[in-house]
Amino acid sequence: MLKLYNTLSRQNEIFVPLTDKKVKMYTCGPTVYNYIHIGNYTTYLFSDLLKRYLLHSGFRVNDVMNITDVDDKTIKGSSEAGSTLTDFTQKYEQTFYDDLKQLHILKAKKYPHATHYIKQIIKLIKQLEKNGFAYQAEDKSVYYDISEFESYGKLANLENQNLKTGAAGRTNSDEYEKDNVGDFALWKAHNQADGDIKWDSPWGPGRPGWHIECSAMIMKLLGDQIDIHIGGEDLIFPHHQNEIAQTEAITEKQFVKYWLHKAHLKVDNKKMSKSLGNFFLLKDVATENSGVMAFRFLVTTSHYRQPLNFTRESLQASAEALNKIYNFVDRLNIANGSDNQLEKIERLITENVKQFELYMNDDLNTPNAIATLFTFINEINKYLDQKQVGGKAAKMLTNHLKQLDKVWAFIFTRKKVDKNFEQRVETLIKSRNDHRKNRNFAEADKIRDELAKMNVEIKDEGEKTHWTIK
Ligand SMILES: [Zn+2]
Repeated sequence: MLKLYNTLSRQNEIFVPLTDKKVKMYTCGPTVYNYIHIGNYTTYLFSDLLKRYLLHSGFRVNDVMNITDVDDKTIKGSSEAGSTLTDFTQKYEQTFYDDLKQLHILKAKKYPHATHYIKQIIKLIKQLEKNGFAYQAEDKSVYYDISEFESYGKLANLENQNLKTGAAGRTNSDEYEKDNVGDFALWKAHNQADGDIKWDSPWGPGRPGWHIECSAMIMKLLGDQIDIHIGGEDLIFPHHQNEIAQTEAITEKQFVKYWLHKAHLKVDNKKMSKSLGNFFLLKDVATENSGVMAFRFLVTTSHYRQPLNFTRESLQASAEALNKIYNFVDRLNIANGSDNQLEKIERLITENVKQFELYMNDDLNTPNAIATLFTFINEINKYLDQKQVGGKAAKMLTNHLKQLDKVWAFIFTRKKVDKNFEQRVETLIKSRNDHRKNRNFAEADKIRDELAKMNVEIKDEGEKTHWTIK
């Protein structure tokens, strides 16, 4: 039985979706005003891991991740770049999709854009106004009146008097226009800095506030109530609290059953920031051999509620750990021992699946689940050493890894070597084998050294030579 830590109740809860085996899941996606940094990707990797594990557990998942393509930052960026909002945001959005692909993050069912939901947003604000939760201030912007929403602050465990600061989040309207400093903008009246970015509304031209965008897209695409809502822990307050206040003031139903939050990423034990020079994009970690997969592995080895400390050394250690798994897969591919231990191996596999699920069901305890994978590999390596793995056992073991990898996605997603490189290696191996046949061992060894310099490791099995990237 899967248990997840719910930010709302601050405890592990048994996961039971609203309707049988169907899961409605929403993750706050990127604001496309710049390239997305690796901190954001840790949240999307977490969301992907949960989705994969839900699928493994027999659930069907309907997941949505939004694209914030209008807010203060996108408007500022596009005006500075002298391009339209769409032109400006599109290149970052495209890079984002490319990165997701590289990370082997499963595609969400939908990636809605805030700017495509303006009608729905206006409808919601009108409803909030009607229900007495929204008011238009003198500056023409429309605000949410947090004093009207009784449980405001519950998600972040805040007392009402603590809400005087910060609740406005990313609003930039003049504070004195609002009745209460904690009130946040639902609709922002157009001002000069917005240029020609504006939409008509019953309150005059303007644009939506950031928080209402998520409520609108969720309600339109997934309904009034959803099972899981994910985001970085910095979104708990005010963003997610505001989503609850907006949606529940309209529906009068519990909006989200399970709130899950990903802890921050740190770099060299410091907050990642451009000014500290420790700010990384995915392409910065992808420069080394199997870098992107090593990053996925690194993120998965730490529990999602523990802050992950990213360092060059930890990435390197992850790449090395991954290589152990890759080597194991390679050994299975060429295993030609006897199949006289089939039953024992089968039992080890069953036991390994049990342990994997035991840990994953415990609020996705990935560090322990991965540890059991390595214990398993060490155990089977002994059988391989003793030539007790034949074709049948190897196939069973490979299938087992493939099943696990539907959740991990860091084993069979190994970076493919490019064709030119492959050809060069094959040519060198062929000429080395020719030299060996002619008993020209000095030349053959020279080629082996050359291959080693290319990080290529070779193993001779009779007539055949197998090679792997170290
Ligand atoms: Zn959101």
